[in-house]
Amino acid sequence: MKSKLLPEGKKIAVLGCGSSGVSAAKLAAARGAARICIFDANPAATCRPLPGVEFCPGATEEHARAYAADLIILSPGIEADIPWTLSFAAPKNAPIIAETELAWHFYTGRIIAITGTNGKTTTTALLEHILTHAGHSAVACGNYGLPLSEVVLMEPQPEFAVLEVSSFQMETIVHFRPEIAIWLNFAPDHMDRYTRVEDYYNAKRRIFENMDASQTAIVREGEILPDLRPRRLGFSSVVATGQLAFDGQNITEQGIPLLSLRGTTMEQAHNAENCMAALLACRAAGLEDASIAAGIRSFSPPGHRCETVAEKDGILWLNDSKSTNLHSTEAAVRSQTRPIILLAGGKDKGLDYSPITPLLRDKARLCIVFGQIAAQLEQTFTPVCPVLRVETVEEAVTAAAAQAQQGDVVLFSPGTSSFDQFTGYVQRGQCFRDAVRRTLNL
Ligand code: ADP
Repeated sequence: MKSKLLPEGKKIAVLGCGSSGVSAAKLAAARGAARICIFDANPAATCRPLPGVEFCPGATEEHARAYAADLIILSPGIEADIPWTLSFAAPKNAPIIAETELAWHFYTGRIIAITGTNGKTTTTALLEHILTHAGHSAVACGNYGLPLSEVVLMEPQPEFAVLEVSSFQMETIVHFRPEIAIWLNFAPDHMDRYTRVEDYYNAKRRIFENMDASQTAIVREGEILPDLRPRRLGFSSVVATGQLAFDGQNITEQGIPLLSLRGTTMEQAHNAENCMAALLACRAAGLEDASIAAGIRSFSPPGHRCETVAEKDGILWLNDSKSTNLHSTEAAVRSQTRPIILLAGGKDKGLDYSPITPLLRDKARLCIVFGQIAAQLEQTFTPVCPVLRVETVEEAVTAAAAQAQQGDVVLFSPGTSSFDQFTGYVQRGQCFRDAVRRTLNL
């Protein structure tokens, strides 16, 4: 019997007209759906014309009831349990599935899925690089790169889909099952979408839900993940209890150096963890250590992730604009060996910043705070280190240039999202880069 989740002969409602919605509609059209409509709640939403696909911007619950879909495909930006989404399912009690779930049913290659609060994109890009460097066809997809549906439509399909998954995508999977799943780390985030940390954790944990002992779970040591069915391999830069560990310079196995990261772009401790996870995944996929090592050595992470913008007068300027939660700022601070001037701030996401204060007491010479949460950060950090409050990123850079001393690192690691002042972390990071270059006359 055919899966109830396949689009053939069905009336499909795709919710959200972003890239994953568009790709899901294309895939449903290619796989025999009877009728497809992309709905978006925003009346100003636009969508390029797609053969055989209708488009309904400004969609209301009335539109949803009138359409009476058989299957709902949900974009990751839209919540599954809000009345608007549920109104599409109501007329026929139709299943609501993630774009990832739809695409999974049609992908014939091997999937390495990556989740975690931080490091997903770096690890996804690294895996794609190692695999292609070793002569395999591999495409980074999911949250980073192409939607999985787009990969499914490639001819031929690549041998590997390296799939970055977010908690949002995992909320509405049903049968989705990767061959290898990586769990990098977990810390509270997205508390503007989840009311409870457990909901965020449970959504992420679903990556393992349909896996069995013939598949592999690669999990950071110390993560609270009891009773996993797949074979489990561990790694950590903090403890040496797993298959792989880090001595500050080398990835080690049973205490023996396996791969030196010295002089690579991945030598900071958090990136060493991304390398360990990728190494274990590539081994599980059948690659030799030598070709994995060659891939790691020739890799550069995508921009805005502890990237060096300048080193002038003995002061290092790092752009970590992609730090959108406390945990990534903590990792960036922990990875520095010099006195730190930390630039942090941005949108109020409802996060509590007090857990980072012991680390700041040890490592930060000064914190310069900006944006919507500046006052909250000032209050939280003041008991442990000097704090300067400014409005904008440009003002933060000017203040940092005035205060920095030889030997310092100026670390722009905002610790929250940028939407109070920017369109996203890329624009924010570019603003920082430009301000640094202007201020230092580079
Ligand atoms: P994600 O896709 O999960 O957001 P990124 O690779 O884009 O992850 O990195 C996001 C932020 O987290 C950056 O600030 C980066 O420096 C930091 N980071 C990268 N890898 C890790 C890791 N393993 N642990 C903690 N922080 C990390």
